[in-house]
Amino acid sequence: MRMILVGPPGAGKGTQAARLVGSYRIPHISTGDMLRAAVKAGTELGKQADGFMKRGALVPDELVIAMVLERIQQDDAKGGFMLDGFPRTTPQAQALDVAMTKAGITLDSVVLIEVPDELIEERIIHRRSDPETGAIYHLEFNPPTDEAVAARLVQRKDDTAEACRARLSKYHAETAPIVPFYEQKGLLRRVDGQGTPDEVEVRIKAALA
Ligand code: AMP
Repeated sequence: MRMILVGPPGAGKGTQAARLVGSYRIPHISTGDMLRAAVKAGTELGKQADGFMKRGALVPDELVIAMVLERIQQDDAKGGFMLDGFPRTTPQAQALDVAMTKAGITLDSVVLIEVPDELIEERIIHRRSDPETGAIYHLEFNPPTDEAVAARLVQRKDDTAEACRARLSKYHAETAPIVPFYEQKGLLRRVDGQGTPDEVEVRIKAALA
C-alpha cells in the first residue's frame, strides 16, 4: 500500500498515521518529523529549515523533495509507505509523480482528512507530544492518563496561535490545490476529521477498504 495523508495542520494526520501503519505494516514517513529531527541534530538541512518552520512557513520545495525521494527509496519503503505532510505544494506532488513513474510504482490512495478552520486553532494550541514515544495528546480531549507522561509533555515551537494561522493560510494557498490533482487521478478519498481519533480511524479504514 502506497498512500498519502493530506489535511490542514491539526487535522490528525500524525495521530492517524501512527495508528494506520500498524495495520498496514508500512513505514510512516512524516516530513514534519524528519525536518524536526534534522533541526534537533543540527544537520545542514536542519539549519536551512529551522527558520521557515518556526514561523509556520513552508520549507523550500527542493529541500523537501530531495529528502522524501531519498527516503522512499530505502529498503523499508520498498513494499509501501504512508506519506504524512508531503506533498504540500503542486511542485512536490508533480516531483513525486515523476519519481514514482520512473520507479515503476503507483499510488493506491490519497486520504484527505477534512476539519473546518474554526476547529484547527483550538486543536493546535492544546496539542502536546511525548518526546519519548512521539505520541500526540490534546490537553482537554485526549490527555495522557499516566502522570509521568503528563509531566514530560512538550509543545511544538510552531504550535502557537500566530504560527498556526500562518500554517493554515499556507495550507489553503499552497496545499489545497493538490486536492484536484489527485481527484482527477481518481485517488482521492475524503474523510471527516471531526470527532475522536477512534471515530476518524474507523472512517479512514472504511475509505481505504
Ligand atoms: P508538520 O509536522 O507536518 O505540521 O510540519 C511542520 C513544519 O515542517 C511545516 O509547518 C513546514 O515548515 C515544514 N514542512 C513539513 N512538511 C513540509 C513539506 N512537505 N513542504 C514544506 N515544508 C514542510
